[in-house]
Order: sequence, then structure tokens, then C-alpha cells
Amino acid sequence: KVRVRFAPSPTGGLHLGGVRTVLFNYLFAKQHGGDFIVRIEDTDQTRFVEGAEAYIFETLQWCGLQPDESAIHGGPFAPYRQSERKPLYKEYADKLIAAGQAYYAFDTAEELDAKRKEIPNFQYNYATRMSLKNSLTLGEAAAKQLITDGVPYVVRINLPDNEEVKFTDMIRGEVSFNTNQVDDKVLLKADGMPTYHLAVVVDDYLMQISHAFRGEEWLPSAPVHVLLWQYLFGLENMPQWAHLPLILKPDGNGKLSKRDGDRLGFPTFAMDWTDPKTKEVAIGFRERGFLPEAFVNMLAALGWNDGSGQEIFTMEELIAKFSMERVHKGGAKFDYEKAKWYNSEWIKKMPVTSYQLQVAGLFANAGIDVSDNAKMLKVLELVKDRCTFLNDFVQQASFFFKAPETIDIAAIKPKWDDKKHLFFIELIKAIELSSSFEASDLELEFKEMAAANQLKPGELMLPFRIMLVGGKFGPHVFDIANIIGKADTISRIKKVLT
Ligand code: GLU
Repeated sequence: KVRVRFAPSPTGGLHLGGVRTVLFNYLFAKQHGGDFIVRIEDTDQTRFVEGAEAYIFETLQWCGLQPDESAIHGGPFAPYRQSERKPLYKEYADKLIAAGQAYYAFDTAEELDAKRKEIPNFQYNYATRMSLKNSLTLGEAAAKQLITDGVPYVVRINLPDNEEVKFTDMIRGEVSFNTNQVDDKVLLKADGMPTYHLAVVVDDYLMQISHAFRGEEWLPSAPVHVLLWQYLFGLENMPQWAHLPLILKPDGNGKLSKRDGDRLGFPTFAMDWTDPKTKEVAIGFRERGFLPEAFVNMLAALGWNDGSGQEIFTMEELIAKFSMERVHKGGAKFDYEKAKWYNSEWIKKMPVTSYQLQVAGLFANAGIDVSDNAKMLKVLELVKDRCTFLNDFVQQASFFFKAPETIDIAAIKPKWDDKKHLFFIELIKAIELSSSFEASDLELEFKEMAAANQLKPGELMLPFRIMLVGGKFGPHVFDIANIIGKADTISRIKKVLT
């Protein structure tokens, strides 16, 4: 059975690459009728951030990426938080030591620092391990004695010298590393906690993970994981790997970072958790007024396409069409303008009722009463083509519910004259007498009156718009008049005439 996992460390928010990793995991699982598991990798207690785990789950929920098993949803392989599985890992470390595939190391931080100064690009490996303080150099008995005496120690993997480690990556094909390029990674730390390297292999095994998809930054660690798989469980149980390409800065120059977001004005999920205000003002896409459908669609396109040129995909379509083999090896450039385009397309595509509540909340924040439901629905339909973000509705549509506070008189003044003034006085009368206030009837009447006064309707429509809206924007002016109604239309015209 297909079982995939997303394994975040709760060390801060989620970055864009992280959410995309979730998405690709999720799509693959659903496509194969498999399970999507979220495991919290919190073995590094020094980097633990309060609230980060909750934020991760909240983000997944907003995106519609529901886990089948997780630290908060539970499941048959619980617990799903590595800190709660601590005793389990030592057993495996002991097995490796007994087989000579790992060793105890007693070097202090100072001793390692001294080595780093002495040897450029120091690595704890085949070349240096015999000059350091570990059970290989001290002998087993002496090492055991130190442990009994309470001397702190770590467990390191004993990498074989000059061996090629090969595996097949679903995106990259065959990948090969020489063990001499890799260092003897710590597996168990002095506090008894496993490192990521040991925990990821043990848990992927115990949780029966079939495919492991993660960011490209983990590719250099892959040989250690492959060897651990071989030593502990035999290679035939090893999941299939895929290392997902990095997400690059908009100009393609290097990896996208939180600072790019701050600098270039787009939101990221990575938050500055050192700032106490962060949790209130999360700078996520949701807060910026993105629809989850658009966000997910945009993410999928970062490194993947189905080859047909189609750009807009629903979640169901993505599940049906996604394939890991079509993910590009090269990094994917993040383009915020494109992200905005996806959002405006989805605002047009989704039924307005799906975001009505959220937009109503934004109006409420701006002190605007939108409780007339029928009117609200009409307005949303009429202006949705003009909105890139949900927040734009407030800017684009407040005048429907409340007369504009400022009127851009300067925009009509230079071309204003008595003839036009008279036209609008007549228009008020005509509106008062008219039996229909449908947009098309009003437009017809407006144009006939203009012709009768030897005026061009085009010259009158801009002043009319400014009277109703306050500025040079908004949908068709007769639609606006229709929605705000007779009484309000008249009072807004009067306000400018007097
Ligand atoms: N805990 C790792 C991270 O934070 C997970 C990497 C993996 O999926 O193996 O990215």
C-alpha cells in the first residue's frame, strides 16, 4: 500500500517549499488510494518553537490537505511525534554498535572546535576518526568504562571507506555518492535523543512508508539514510525516494527565502518567530487574501506541469494528473505576479458564496454594513473580475453600501459647464418619474436625453460615475446605479450639483 509522509520539524513556520512538499505527498497518496501521514520531527529540542506545530496543521487544513494519520489526528502507528518515541531509537543505535556499524564518540565541543581549526573543512570521517576520542580508538572496554563513569557521549555511524552508495530517485534517476564525501553523522545525541538521520530511517520503517518525498536539501544526507536502511532493515524495504527541486528567487538567483518575501512584498509561510507580534499578524498567503484553491494550484505549478499547457487545476484534477516523473529536476522560480494571476482566476471561477463570509468579515472590519444578502451577492458577482485578492473587494465595492466620503471633483471640473449641470438636473427628474430602474432602461433613457441635449453620452458617463463611486473606477455605471437604487442615486447626484 502507498504510504507517504510529511515530516516537518516544528522550528518555525512553513516555507513555500515545505507546503509544496506536503502537496506532492498528498497528491501522490490520493492518486494511489494511499495514506498521507504527518510526523512531527521534534528531536532537536534546542530549535523547538512553541506554536509552530499548531501553525503547520492549521496551514494544512486551510490548504485542504487533510492527513490520514498524524500527531493530532492519531492513527495505528502512534505516537507521531518523535520526542514521544525516544526510547525506541536507542535500541537501533545499540544494534548498529553491536554490528560495528556505529561507534561511541566522546569528543567534547572544545576538542572538535580545535580540530576544525587545525584541519580545513574538517569532517569526522575515514580520514580523521582514528585521531579522535571514540570506541574505535579507545577500545570497547575503555569506552564502556567511560559511559559507566557518566562521561557524555554520542553515537556516530561508522561509514565504510571509499564505497559507492547508489539509489534510484524518482525525479533524478540513479544517484551515486562515495562514502568518503560524507561524514560519520551523529545518530544518537548526548541527551539520548536520536538525530534526524536515525529517527527518519527508524520511523519510515516502523510506519511502513512506501515513498519518501522531501526537499532537495536532503539529497546529501541520502547516502547515510540508505546505508542505515541497509544495515538495519535490508534494502528491499526501503521507500522510494524523490528529492524535490528547490524553489528559487523570482530572478532565479538562489533559493527563495523569507527575506525575499519581505523585500519583494509577497507573503511567505516562514514567519519571524522571534517577533512577538508574529502569531497575530501571520504573513501567510491566507492573510493576504489568497484563496486556498489558488494557492494550491500555484504551488503545484512550481516544478510540475501535465504537459498540455493547462494552467488551472482543481484539487481533483491534480490528484488525477500529478506524476512525480514529470517534476523538473531544476529549481522552480517563484513568480509572485503569476501567483496573483492564479488568485484572480480563482476568484472569478469559484462561486461567490464560497468566499462571501470571508469578504463580509473584511467589510465589517472596515465598518461597512453588508447585511443585505441579496445586494451583497449581486455586488460580489459584479466586481469579482476586478479583484486580485479578497481584500480588494472592500476597495472595489464599498461605495455600493455607503456613499463615497471623498469625490474626485478635479476629474470632472475642467470639462464641466451649465449644459451638463442642466442635464443632471433633468436626469434626477427623469429618474424620479421612471417606472423601471433596470440598468438597460436607465442607459437607454440616459443616452436619449444626452442626444436631445446635443451632448455626447461619453462625456456624461464619467461625471455620473464619479458622483456615484467617488473616483474613476468600478463596473458599468448603469449597473452601479441599479444596485444602489433610485433614492441613493439621486442623492449622490444632488450632492455634487449643490
Ligand atoms: N524533518 C525533516 C525536515 O524538517 C524532514 C526531511 C524528510 O522528509 O526526510 O525537513
